[in-house]
Amino acid sequence: MTPIVQAGEPVLRELAAAVDPASIPSPAFQQLIETMIAAMREAPGVGLAAPQIGVSMRVIVLEDRPEYIEKLTDVERTERGRQPFAPRVFINPELTVIGEERAMFFEGCLSVEGYAGMVDRAAEVEVRGLDEHGVSQTWRVRGWPARILQHEVDHLNGVLYVDRMNTRTFMAGEQAKARYAGKSIAEIRRALGL
Ligand code: ZN
Repeated sequence: MTPIVQAGEPVLRELAAAVDPASIPSPAFQQLIETMIAAMREAPGVGLAAPQIGVSMRVIVLEDRPEYIEKLTDVERTERGRQPFAPRVFINPELTVIGEERAMFFEGCLSVEGYAGMVDRAAEVEVRGLDEHGVSQTWRVRGWPARILQHEVDHLNGVLYVDRMNTRTFMAGEQAKARYAGKSIAEIRRALGL
């Protein structure tokens, strides 16, 4: 099991280094990708950036699985834009915000274990980067994957969600689950006085 480093580890505040595309086919780099996907699933989480396992390189992985989404209510699924997708790897990702629409919701982070807070993010983004074979790819996406991408790319720039959250919404993850699971964003905002 790969340990996930926690807030306070300097690597989480560093600007991660760009990956040399020539190194992508190497066994060491391929092992890094496998380790990251395994660590994300073990946690379990929907995204992971290399600095979270102590590697200061510009690599992120993300995945949303049907079994994570099944537990949600219809309103949660729709409002958050949750949709299952197979694991995706982005190396040296570049993010572009599409349009003006914003979305606010709870986020947690495997490196800020046990807590959650609401973060205002762009509703839609486009990400460009290399995949695990070193091939260029572009993904334009809305909803939850767009949130994950923004959160993970932040990690590569030494930014944690707590830097961007509405601080009044910061709470223990158990509290967020117990009080706000199944509620609409409007209900949550009202309850939190936003
Ligand atoms: Zn995180």
